[in-house]
Amino acid sequence: MIKEKIRYCIPQSLFRSFKRVKLAFQCMLWRGNAVYCPVCQRRYRSFISDAAYCPGCQSLSRHRLLVKYLEAGGLCQTGQRVLDIGPNWGLKKYFGKVWGNDYYCSDLCSPEADYHFNIQNIPYAEGYFDGIICYHVLEHCDNDDKALAELYRVLKPGGWAIIEVPYDKKRMVTFEEDWINTPQLRLEHYGQQDHVRIYGRDFVDKYKAAGFEFELIDFANILDESSIAENGLQISELIFRCLKGE
Ligand SMILES: [Zn+2]
Repeated sequence: MIKEKIRYCIPQSLFRSFKRVKLAFQCMLWRGNAVYCPVCQRRYRSFISDAAYCPGCQSLSRHRLLVKYLEAGGLCQTGQRVLDIGPNWGLKKYFGKVWGNDYYCSDLCSPEADYHFNIQNIPYAEGYFDGIICYHVLEHCDNDDKALAELYRVLKPGGWAIIEVPYDKKRMVTFEEDWINTPQLRLEHYGQQDHVRIYGRDFVDKYKAAGFEFELIDFANILDESSIAENGLQISELIFRCLKGE
């Protein structure tokens, strides 16, 4: 929490400079040829720690899988207007090159984002975007139903969205209580002080209630074993594909 407060206090240009220096330093330390990151498109001797962070762009396994999935589906090309909520540093650079001015990188207040607004009230017209990426954001939203309704509204008919949330596969019903309303209580009961619920398997019902056609895509399983190892992917990672009907 203190780290986050410090981060929001320093000027954005300074924050970005720090990050660039840190990543350049890590690139040197992890230089090698054993693994390949499809997000920053560089090779390293390994990814970092069990979380498999990329030393050069901070992408995680799920980010690298997303890039491979979008590339395989022919979606990483110009002509797509895409909203990215809660961007990852590496993905922002990658998607910025792919979609240029049609890439809308946004967050409530992160200095890494170019646009700042509340996902529960998105300031764009109905059907404005061809695609939406929203990774690990809804678990922070007070009203995730409203957020999902807004994501659905700004997606054009026939559009695609990848909206991923962390969820407990053993839990049937989402756990969310009004009395769990302080950072300390949230840490104790939800595992993180800025989470406002733990999703159960019923998270799918929320997506469907918003209007999305939803499917969990086991994309990692159709990749060959050498790609899984080389790109630092987790075989258990799924793609949360949401479509809006024509
Ligand atoms: Zn990378």
